[in-house]
Amino acid sequence: MANEKKKERFKEEKEIFENHIKKKGLRRTAQRDLILEVFLQTEEHVSSEDLYWLVQQKDKSIGYTTVYRTLKLLAEAGLAREVSFGDGKTYYEHHYKHQHHDHMICTECGKVIEFFSPEIEQLQDEMAEKHGFKPTYHNLRILGICAECQKEVSSADSVASGAQPRIRVIGSRFSK
Ligand SMILES: [Zn+2]
Ligand SMILES: [Zn+2]
Ligand SMILES: [Zn+2]
Repeated sequence: MANEKKKERFKEEKEIFENHIKKKGLRRTAQRDLILEVFLQTEEHVSSEDLYWLVQQKDKSIGYTTVYRTLKLLAEAGLAREVSFGDGKTYYEHHYKHQHHDHMICTECGKVIEFFSPEIEQLQDEMAEKHGFKPTYHNLRILGICAECQKEVSSADSVASGAQPRIRVIGSRFSK
């Protein structure tokens, strides 16, 4: 079903990568192909360490440096976009044919919520224009606490449903 469609999409992305590699005077290698494949299969925001771990599950012989450099190549080729969430790490997400979006980051659990607001985009453009500024790139980041983490604090002494089978310490600081 959707699987075949996905393969075709990967084919296009592989061509883009191959062209970029040629332009750089590099060789196409099985290792780079695998790294690209693994990256395209993720739908999350991955750091180079995350991707290295995922690649290691498939081929232990691929080193971290190769993964790191390949990610840089993917970004240059326009297949990956670098994003930062304020924890000092660089994350990568799919860029090719993916619509622009911005992020909310939960400082409790690290969850990343993607959002897009045409109104906010418009306001940013207007602001830039007002200052005679020509924007080329932006990465809007809202830090805070996600809905689930807020719930966890306010109901810390009640048994969480399903996902969290472990019961918390009885008589927590939240009970009176
Ligand atoms: Zn935006
Ligand atoms: Zn959270
Ligand atoms: Zn994103």
